[in-house]
Amino acid sequence: MVERIAGVKGMNDLLPPDSAQWDWLEERVRSVMQRWGYQGLRTPIVEPTALFVRGLGEVTDIVEKEMYSFVDRLNGDPLTLRPEGTAGVVRATIEHKLLYEGGKRLYYVGPMFRHERPQKGRYRQFHQVGVEVLGWPGPDVDAEVILLVRALWKELGLQEGRDVHLELNSLGQPAERAAHRQALIAHFEAHASSLDEEALRRLHTNPLRVLDSKHPAVQAVAETAPRLLDFLGPESQAHLDAVRAVLEACAVPYRINPRLVRGMDYYNLTVFEWVTDQLGAQGTVCGGGRYDGLMEQLGGKPAPAVGWGLGIERLLLLLQALGRIPAPVPPDVYAIVPDAAAMAPAMVTLETLRQAGVRAVLHAAGEQGPGSMKSQFRKADASGARFALVFGGDELAAGEVTLKPLRDGQAHQQRHSLADVASWAASLLPGSDNQGLA
Ligand code: ATP
Ligand code: MG
Repeated sequence: MVERIAGVKGMNDLLPPDSAQWDWLEERVRSVMQRWGYQGLRTPIVEPTALFVRGLGEVTDIVEKEMYSFVDRLNGDPLTLRPEGTAGVVRATIEHKLLYEGGKRLYYVGPMFRHERPQKGRYRQFHQVGVEVLGWPGPDVDAEVILLVRALWKELGLQEGRDVHLELNSLGQPAERAAHRQALIAHFEAHASSLDEEALRRLHTNPLRVLDSKHPAVQAVAETAPRLLDFLGPESQAHLDAVRAVLEACAVPYRINPRLVRGMDYYNLTVFEWVTDQLGAQGTVCGGGRYDGLMEQLGGKPAPAVGWGLGIERLLLLLQALGRIPAPVPPDVYAIVPDAAAMAPAMVTLETLRQAGVRAVLHAAGEQGPGSMKSQFRKADASGARFALVFGGDELAAGEVTLKPLRDGQAHQQRHSLADVASWAASLLPGSDNQGLA
């Protein structure tokens, strides 16, 4: 026996029938994006390591310990599997001068990679939907990207304020953060005995990160820490107020969470998360905010921007927990082919049916031929199809095919002519009230 090679830990195969849930979700996502005028952007999965180190910040969970970084053995280039989508989108925007004619509303869907401890809702390869709105400074687009998430919840049958909750904060501008930083360091120094090793290390490099700690004792100290919200100047305050005004006008329930800081350094002003209490510790389904400094930090012309990333696996877990995923759609027709000679005419007929939108599956032959009618009918039934289409010798000799309803409450079996398949194809579509009758 040859030794079996298993997949990489924390990186999952996505198998049928679950893969149908992904198809459904991604279709809903693309449909919402199109209605909102967002354009797709696809960047490579691998980027230069420096992009993330500079873009996300050295003292962040991702850069310190979660990146899949390696050296390209063929040319020595330091590369990293993308841990998030924003840095790559910004790089591409700069590289292709995408903002030359004005702002852009972009979205992406794809895999991300982080070396974390795998557990429910946390994987080493996972998938995100994200949007990035580049080139506009105003609170209007901040509110828009949040409303877009709400539209997506609605599309998927989730109710904001019940299934998912919006949390909002402002990180202000760099000068406001600098003032807050001093107060924060003083607070943490006074409680140094409660801090873990990581928090102590970050205390002087990136104290804001300490607020994001998952360690219970550190969280307790973070609870009483000075709030960045209290350090906002009038402009930052006005920006936050304007976002809130739109959310309130659009009846989006939200909570101000003064400790919400997000995991990357590039954010300023508006930050937000959509959280759920259905998924335990992995409760953040979607997170985002404004990142006005990132374009310049990555070598581009300064340009304001706002965006979010949403974890598809977590969203599916939530939808599953709430029973909101529609059952997979079965085929309309399963073609039964008792004799190998019927294969070609069956294929010709199915071509026409599929062109008319009918979901049609052909019984595939095994090594011993197509198998008995009985076993084929068993397969037809198991497929969930509403009709069997029998390409028997008698029927074919008469230029016909037998349509046999497989589910209760349908019409009796009948024959159809093969000469005019297109004329009865539509009667096989779901919801067609003539139930197979041409
Ligand atoms: P967390 O605090 O749970 O680690 P994060 O702040 O690192 O999340 P982001 O970097 O903001 O998450 O990514 C946006 C979304 O991507 C998260 O809200 C989550 O839904 C999803 N996500 C992040 N990391 C993972 C992962 N390892 N596995 C699955 N989904 C993830
Ligand atoms: Mg994380």
